[in-house]
Amino acid sequence: MSQVETAEKATDNKNNTQVKAYGAKAADADLKEMQIERRKPTKDDVHIKITYCGVCHSDIHQVRNDWKNSVYPVVPGHEIVGEITAVGENVKNFKEGDLVGVGCMVDSCQTCDSCKEDLEQFCENGATMTYNSKDKHLENRHTFGGYSESIVVNKEFVLSVPKSLDTKAVAPLLCAGITTYSPLRTWNIKKGDKVGVIGLGGLGHMGIKFAHAMGAHTVMITTSPEKAEDAKRLGADEVLISKDEKAMKEQAGSFDFLLNTVPVGHDTNPYINILKRDGTMVMVGAIEPIEVNGAGLIMGRKRIAGSIIGGIKETQEMLDFCGEHDIVSDVEMIDMKNINDAYERVVDGDVKYRFVIDMKSLN
Ligand code: NAP
Ligand code: ZN
Repeated sequence: MSQVETAEKATDNKNNTQVKAYGAKAADADLKEMQIERRKPTKDDVHIKITYCGVCHSDIHQVRNDWKNSVYPVVPGHEIVGEITAVGENVKNFKEGDLVGVGCMVDSCQTCDSCKEDLEQFCENGATMTYNSKDKHLENRHTFGGYSESIVVNKEFVLSVPKSLDTKAVAPLLCAGITTYSPLRTWNIKKGDKVGVIGLGGLGHMGIKFAHAMGAHTVMITTSPEKAEDAKRLGADEVLISKDEKAMKEQAGSFDFLLNTVPVGHDTNPYINILKRDGTMVMVGAIEPIEVNGAGLIMGRKRIAGSIIGGIKETQEMLDFCGEHDIVSDVEMIDMKNINDAYERVVDGDVKYRFVIDMKSLN
């Protein structure tokens, strides 16, 4: 019997195409090959043949329904790089053959205050996420991500990829990159600031590279002493082992800014304690309850904030910054068929520092 399963039945529109993808049919199911439907490009669309797709921890959260909002089948993937194969008649800034990226969003209302301020990730009418969002074009469907042959995306959500960079290592910039770049920019991180990045994974390793490139005194805060050498190679000036209570006490009150990428709920108080007066810790990882002792914030006017990806304009700015500073992700390439093992390894913290799927392996 064929392994290929048809995810959804074809719609009335005979022009839509069936493409090969990898997805999960339930929270406890492995990812398997399946067929999905892509719309026929409209006049505002760009059709992209996907060459590489990064594997974000969010893909795993969504496949496993950790956030209780998954719709099945889930075809993950929001760190997409590919080549344009066709453009609609209204598309002026891209052409066939261009190297482009697609991140976590594929559409938004474009009219609300957030969209007008280039903050589509906060679209007041709900941005369309690359996967697991209501599809605006295909009735009663949800969107499917980049673990697939091709994707059709509104022109406003397509990014230019600097040609000077290693294409496969660009893919993770589309989520891990912008998610760490945006808060560092929003909180105006600059030379002389002491910045701690908590958690050396896909996001954390980008956070270190960006904070270092922005001139900050950069400290990797990790639970894993064996990652210390790598952290320094990635740009950390110092490494702080968060399980070492003595070392944490010695750093009390010394950080201007902390970027917290820990993927699960945890006790934030040891981190609040190392912030300076008026310092801020930005949460990007834990989309669940965290432990906070009010006293730690009150005594020092400290702040905890949150951040999610970045707008399209800022994502392009980040890619251009990477082009100028020669920044890419540290990647381990995998074939599509090894995705289920890769998920286990991400959860075990056993990847340096982002898996990227070579999409050729889908065929
Ligand atoms: P990842 O590669 O798994 O890295 C997470 C790192 O956090 C691990 O390598 C580990 O680093 C540390 N860690 C893991 N469990 C921990 C625990 N229980 N306590 C303390 N530290 C722990 O994950 P990722 O892809 O970087 O994603 C991180 C989180 O950000 C995920 O939850 C993801 O869903 C979320 N995310 C958010 C956004 C956003 O826009 N806000 C975007 C993308 C992803 P050490 O070994 O160094 O301690
Ligand atoms: Zn992501």
